[in-house]
Amino acid sequence: MITATFALLVIGGIFAIILWEMVQHQLLMSAVKDVSASDRERLIGLISSVGTAASTSYFLLPRNEVHDGKFTILLPKQMDARWLSEKSLKVSIDPDSADEIHPTTIQVSADSSQSDFSVVPIPRIKMKNGKAQNRYQPTYWFKKEPELEIICRKYSRNPEAFASYFVDGIGRVNAPFEWLQSPPKMRCPSCRGKMHPVFQIDGGPIGLNSEAVYYVAACNCENEQIQTFMQLS
Ligand SMILES: [Zn+2]
Repeated sequence: MITATFALLVIGGIFAIILWEMVQHQLLMSAVKDVSASDRERLIGLISSVGTAASTSYFLLPRNEVHDGKFTILLPKQMDARWLSEKSLKVSIDPDSADEIHPTTIQVSADSSQSDFSVVPIPRIKMKNGKAQNRYQPTYWFKKEPELEIICRKYSRNPEAFASYFVDGIGRVNAPFEWLQSPPKMRCPSCRGKMHPVFQIDGGPIGLNSEAVYYVAACNCENEQIQTFMQLS
């Protein structure tokens, strides 16, 4: 009897935690949607000024509503895959894509007239040894720019989580990939050289499976190779 009660308590506890996390997720998502235009600009400006070294990676922020995995991304100036710098990528992801096949169509275009996202520089910090490192933690940003925390607190009782949702809820450009599973082999099929991260994007905000993350990598050789990957959480 005691063990049964105990088991029920444990199951109930786990259920309550899952439910709590789902509620928190929904609250943060709607809080981010409530951000006023002026606060949005201010938050972006403050996050952009946290770094002490030139940023090389960017967060993706929504500009237009995206459906069915079809969107356009305008890439920033200094991409590690250099041939993609300032190019527009017209991306179309098949919603029924399986892990083994990569039915993502990507058209590379020099027409930079439209993008469904804005980009915000990921704060980059110069270290004592002269190297630089990306800093993703809002607690660190708040120390450098205290006004950030004040604005985030207007929208949520958890300003750190809110700041993360605000800038890091969709994807990253030219940033080291954050794999959900073990990393796949990324070698250029033409030159066998290293592939560079172009962008990663969550499925939910682009109208696809919210448990999927899509990754696009590119090589620097003259064959201009692109590879796509998908992983599930
Ligand atoms: Zn190559």
